[in-house]
Amino acid sequence: MSNLVLEAAYFAARKHRDQKRKGVDASPYINHPLEVASLLARVGGVDDQETLAAALLHDTLEDTETTVAELVELFGKGVSGMVEEVTDDKKLPKEERKEEQLKRASTLSPGAALVKLGDKISNVRDVTEHPPEDWNAERRLNYVDWASGVVDNLPVGTNAALEEHFEKIAAEARRVIA
Ligand code: ZN
Repeated sequence: MSNLVLEAAYFAARKHRDQKRKGVDASPYINHPLEVASLLARVGGVDDQETLAAALLHDTLEDTETTVAELVELFGKGVSGMVEEVTDDKKLPKEERKEEQLKRASTLSPGAALVKLGDKISNVRDVTEHPPEDWNAERRLNYVDWASGVVDNLPVGTNAALEEHFEKIAAEARRVIA
């Protein structure tokens, strides 16, 4: 019997196998989607299998050769749809993509909003603990402010425990980086 969440973890691990995170510790990329899914389950109490699978797959469209058709075939339309919702349009320049995320946050479905929230927790923690080598304090703090903006724009009532956790991580980031 196959298990959706495990299959998603295995698929994401293969897709991201040659990638490292941008931080100085250059950890294997897969640690990040694993952390996002783990945060959703552990902190947010999320047990919906499709949402957890989407958390594991959330960067495959944006950062690997994965196609929507592949995700639909292997994981279904629900999972694929959530991943599409949290995928940036790579044709846009970086600053516009950041603007788009701020604008689109309020329109996310409940599952995609959870994934986005977990993603921002993981990223802000990375920027605090393992920032990319060439990011100065200002750039790191700008990132935290932007991530807070995205989280603030998520639909009301997305997940109180995860929102509280984000606030703690963001406050810690500002304290450590400043
Ligand atoms: Zn991510």
